[in-house]
Amino acid sequence: MALGSILCLGTAAAQAQEFTRQDTLRGSITPERAWWDLSFYHLDIAVNPQDSSISGSNTIRYKVLEPNQQRMQVDLQPPMRISRVTQQGKDVPVQQDGNAWFVQLREPQQAGTEGEIKVYYSGKPQVSENPPWSGGITWARDANGKPWVANSNQGDGASLWWPCKDHMYDEPDSMRISVRAPKGLMDVSNGQLKGVQEHADGSKTYHWYVANPINNYGVNLSIGDYAHYAETYKGEKGELALNFFPLRYNLDKAKKQWAQTHQMLEAFEHWFGPYPFYEDGFKLIEVPYLGMEHQSAVTYGNGYQNGYRGRDLSGTGWGLKFDFIIIHEAGHEWFANNITYKDVADMWIHESFTNYSESLFLDYHYGTQAANEYVIGLRNIIQNDIPIIGVYNVNQEGSGDMYPKGSNMLHNLRQIVNNDEKWRSILRGLNKDFYHQTVTTQQIESYLSQHIGRDLTPVFDQYLRDVRIPRLEYRVNGKTLQYRWANTVDTFNMPVKVTVNGEAQWLEPTTTWQELKLKKKKPKLEVDPNFYVTAQNVAAA
Ligand SMILES: [Zn+2]
Repeated sequence: MALGSILCLGTAAAQAQEFTRQDTLRGSITPERAWWDLSFYHLDIAVNPQDSSISGSNTIRYKVLEPNQQRMQVDLQPPMRISRVTQQGKDVPVQQDGNAWFVQLREPQQAGTEGEIKVYYSGKPQVSENPPWSGGITWARDANGKPWVANSNQGDGASLWWPCKDHMYDEPDSMRISVRAPKGLMDVSNGQLKGVQEHADGSKTYHWYVANPINNYGVNLSIGDYAHYAETYKGEKGELALNFFPLRYNLDKAKKQWAQTHQMLEAFEHWFGPYPFYEDGFKLIEVPYLGMEHQSAVTYGNGYQNGYRGRDLSGTGWGLKFDFIIIHEAGHEWFANNITYKDVADMWIHESFTNYSESLFLDYHYGTQAANEYVIGLRNIIQNDIPIIGVYNVNQEGSGDMYPKGSNMLHNLRQIVNNDEKWRSILRGLNKDFYHQTVTTQQIESYLSQHIGRDLTPVFDQYLRDVRIPRLEYRVNGKTLQYRWANTVDTFNMPVKVTVNGEAQWLEPTTTWQELKLKKKKPKLEVDPNFYVTAQNVAAA
């Protein structure tokens, strides 16, 4: 998701939260979810902009992990309604409990077997009040008055508009998406277009196929009067199909602005490794909201201009060198779509790395100084209101600081590694070793500690689970420099680079005073500005 949500998240999330049974049903791996493993979805729907409704079915195929289970949880949020569920062509009972629907299967399921149900549903899905930051469907019209429909539902959940296992830990291995769009309009979803079926009334069904695991919120619905053009990118894994869908009257603008896709792929394949979905191609699709990282189908609404709606969030000028939505949302193909959080409380895995990808894009094309200035500039929007990690098992994300503060934490790590080739190999290693997986923060933290070669637990605890910014306190006594970390968790330690009288020096401060012998009295000490810390001379007056 695009930064900007911090403004609403910051205040909303800072309020004390009380969680309900519905939050638990939505946010935890309930027993009715745990026994089965998703293998395939076929979402098959008709979308009607005339009355803002969606109707159709989702076929859910699953592998049985635990024996003798018969009750299955499927999620669909009112006002959408499940009308019937069938298994092997016969109706099975379904019982609604708020957003959760419990399906009673025909017989106890045998471990190791595959099963399938078909869920029929319809209704007028929630309309998004502030896309993409509030979930729902956007029913817009383009400048010619033609219907223009799009979904955005990270956090609130895909079950706002289609029935699914709406928890991020489990993804189908592949998915088919069939969308019937009114006459004269096209649907663009994820993966490759496998066929278009024409109906007597002039409407058409677009059949898309996703050959890779896909997360729920990444499933895309875009209906509009689209133009289409195609290009090819010769990347690390061969030829990658690029398909572009601007509104018909924006074709010329798109061809110019969206050329940045090539620069994006060049920079990100360098830093993160091959684009993770070659089989599904890469698409940009114009939508009536700012943008979202829908897998292999990135949605775009940045107005064909550089920056974030024409602005530079870093205040350094570097943010105007690229189109924020192309770079940020496509960065999520590696961190969100390839490596996906199991619980939205760990959303930093998506947003911190992707926010940092903006800096790495600059690094690749404009050099490390530009990249450093950009990530440092983003500190002006850090709030330090609540921790970055949210509440587990209740679908609750943490502070919007997961964007700029999370990327500044990663920038700290880059300084600690102090070897950009090694840093790059770690970023590529993450994408290789967690390829197409859903993960926990513990997995990512352990991986970074292991590959950086130091226990970084205190660093993660400080920046992800606490709101205080470490302060390097120091005092000079003759030719002795004393220093320590303050304003931190008890066990905090982190190396930091300083200059003493212009000479670079690494310190290994902890929360207790340490000493460094100096060559001369009254040294001038400066902390390397790439570290997101503060410093204070605490010498007694
Ligand atoms: Zn994002």
